Amino acid sequence: MVVPCRSDEALSMSRKAPSLADFRRLVVKVGSSLLVDSDGGRLHDAWLASLVGDIAKLHRSKRDVLVVSSGAIALGRAVLKLPPGPLKLEDSQAAAAVGQIALARTWSEVLGREGITAGQLLLTLQDTEERRRYLNARSTIDKLLEWRAVPVINENDTVATNEIRYGDNDRLAARVATMASADLLVLLSDVDGLYDSPPTENATAKLVPLVEYITAGIEAMAGAAGSELSRGGMHTKIEAAKMATQAGTHMVIASGRIAHPLEAIASGARCTWFLTPANPITARKKWIAGSLEPKGILTIDAGAVAALRSGKSLLPAGVIQVDGSFARGDAVVIRGPDGLEVGRGLVAYDAQDALKIKGRPSADIVSILGFGGRAEMVHRDDLVVGRA
Ligand code: GLU
Repeated sequence: MVVPCRSDEALSMSRKAPSLADFRRLVVKVGSSLLVDSDGGRLHDAWLASLVGDIAKLHRSKRDVLVVSSGAIALGRAVLKLPPGPLKLEDSQAAAAVGQIALARTWSEVLGREGITAGQLLLTLQDTEERRRYLNARSTIDKLLEWRAVPVINENDTVATNEIRYGDNDRLAARVATMASADLLVLLSDVDGLYDSPPTENATAKLVPLVEYITAGIEAMAGAAGSELSRGGMHTKIEAAKMATQAGTHMVIASGRIAHPLEAIASGARCTWFLTPANPITARKKWIAGSLEPKGILTIDAGAVAALRSGKSLLPAGVIQVDGSFARGDAVVIRGPDGLEVGRGLVAYDAQDALKIKGRPSADIVSILGFGGRAEMVHRDDLVVGRA
């Protein structure tokens, strides 16, 4: 796979656009109009098979791939033969209930033909914003990836109401990417990137191949928020780019109107890259170190201090004291036996459970708590260790 984006319209670039081969975990977002025909509601089977061919190649080369797929409402509308035009909320919820079954079956079949297992996740806004639910969704995604399955994710449109929904899968995909610590988000769309003015109105509009920082000028190119065209349009894509790049994930907007769209990005098709200055783990660690109020203290023994300083996770066995009333997912301060702060992290157990398993081997967690939680009290990805 080679360097993407044609250089003929390149802006002056101080950083080069990356190559797809640089990424280890990718989220691919597929819009409804790519999957489902706007007239008859038929699935674009041949195109989907070509996309899945690309996904399978990445998967075989040991990359983790997650799919965020729209299309539930569009498919449901077709199955139910609903008339064209905007749908009321309850109508789109019910259409999604019908269409999601077809959508999941489709993904499961096409991935299955490539020998890949699909796992479906339907997420609501709360699943990505409330820390406890966020951790649950994240562990499910982690487990699916560990089993080499491809998570296929959509918003749970059947229960999402206007106030509590994303409504567009661009921002949902960006949250999924940050939740999964993906290093690349690919938005496949019916446009091939960001233009400096609306290409439909201006024949001389130029594609912007690389965005290093999302400035007010870049936002202005995307058009105003809340306009009829902005839903799922460029505005939500720029919002997604902000979410992704702040969390250490690169993003690319590319055309899904061609066969093998991921191969096309890799071999130089037109597209727009949004670069992040960070990587997902450092961005996450900055967030843990700086912006969370600690809810408790874990005091650990000297062996655990040494383990943490060498980059390992904190196991329950190394914890000697638990203070504070915290819930799973809260930030806690970690202190050494001398009372000095060693670091901070997100704890994987509520305070009551942490008290019960402290000092005990991880293998005993199930028999002590009656359920099998994580082997780590604080996973190393959720841990920021200060200098000794
Ligand atoms: N979640 C919606 C669906 O599957 C689509 C949202 C979007 O198109 O961005 O139908």
